[in-house]
Amino acid sequence: MVHLYEGERTVKSGPRVQSLSGRPLLSIVIPMRDEAANLDPMFARLLPVLDRIGMASEIICIDDGSIDDTVARLKVLYRQHSQIRIVSFSRNFGKEVALAAGLRYARGDAVVLMDGDLQHPPELIEDFVAYWREGYPVVYGQRRPQAGRGLRRVLTRIFYRTFAVVAQTKLPEGACDFRLIDRRAVDALNSLTERTRFTKGLYTWIGFRQIGVLFDVEARKNGSSGWSNLGLWRFALDAITSFSMIPLRIWSYVGGIISLFALGYGLYCLLRESIYGTDVPAVSSLMIAVTFFAGVQLLSLGVIGEYLGRVFTEVKQRPLYLVAEEVGFDTGFDAHGE
Ligand code: UDP
Ligand code: MG
Repeated sequence: MVHLYEGERTVKSGPRVQSLSGRPLLSIVIPMRDEAANLDPMFARLLPVLDRIGMASEIICIDDGSIDDTVARLKVLYRQHSQIRIVSFSRNFGKEVALAAGLRYARGDAVVLMDGDLQHPPELIEDFVAYWREGYPVVYGQRRPQAGRGLRRVLTRIFYRTFAVVAQTKLPEGACDFRLIDRRAVDALNSLTERTRFTKGLYTWIGFRQIGVLFDVEARKNGSSGWSNLGLWRFALDAITSFSMIPLRIWSYVGGIISLFALGYGLYCLLRESIYGTDVPAVSSLMIAVTFFAGVQLLSLGVIGEYLGRVFTEVKQRPLYLVAEEVGFDTGFDAHGE
């Protein structure tokens, strides 16, 4: 039995909880930040899909510090659809953390992670469940390759390539958070207690047989995406530093190579002086060498700092998130679909 530290309490993730009727339970986890305008259209598409699938279900909505009326509207919807559960964070903790929370709250035999802005078509869940029933523990939505456009796409490609080399973990091209995960794999993810969570990497790290289902990303229904360029840069740094020590190790090799060069150059100078007499080197080349290597040293210190900062975050042992309110967790699982 795995014990997970989660906020103020210890959660036992032991024997799986099934719906009261003994039917397998499907959990849908949806992180939401200011998605009030998308709630109605999203549920209008999601609920019929769940009906067609015919499993008992729970829809876990993680309100990630929304400042619009997402929570108020969710509560209205909860009164109509009792399979909705609401977890409201005390503030915004970010989508990765919201997903981690959702995976811990979910009690399903299979858990589906899905965005709340309808960029992930709910209809695809039917295909996910079909593959799951065939025996695939992880089924992920895979964005259909689009014609290359924009700097971000190019940078994203460069990131994936770099990550594959540096972290020696090949992330499936276009795989997104939209996915179905079997209970066994969910427990595996929940047992990873790290605070800096690069979820895409963790999905690959846990292994299990995985299969992708191609789909076209739809345009965001309402509102705008929360990713700034700085946010993406931080995300990339988190990804690489949490999956690889190469940026740390590389400096000993760089240092070694530079020392060898310096040694060789020193010997060369010694030889030249003994043959041609004393020679004063140009000041500018000295300046260039000094500033260049000062730069290299600061850069390597910076890399150490990046890791040290993350070690600091880990040792503080702060909870990953804080919950302000939970709604709907005291009801049975088979309220829906009976
Ligand atoms: N989201 C969240 N917390 C955040 C930012 C986003 O829970 O701090 C949710 C958001 O409500 C949506 C999903 O994560 O359901 C994807 O967010 P977004 O559309 O902004 O990202 P993108 O689709 O551009 O990756
Ligand atoms: Mg989106």
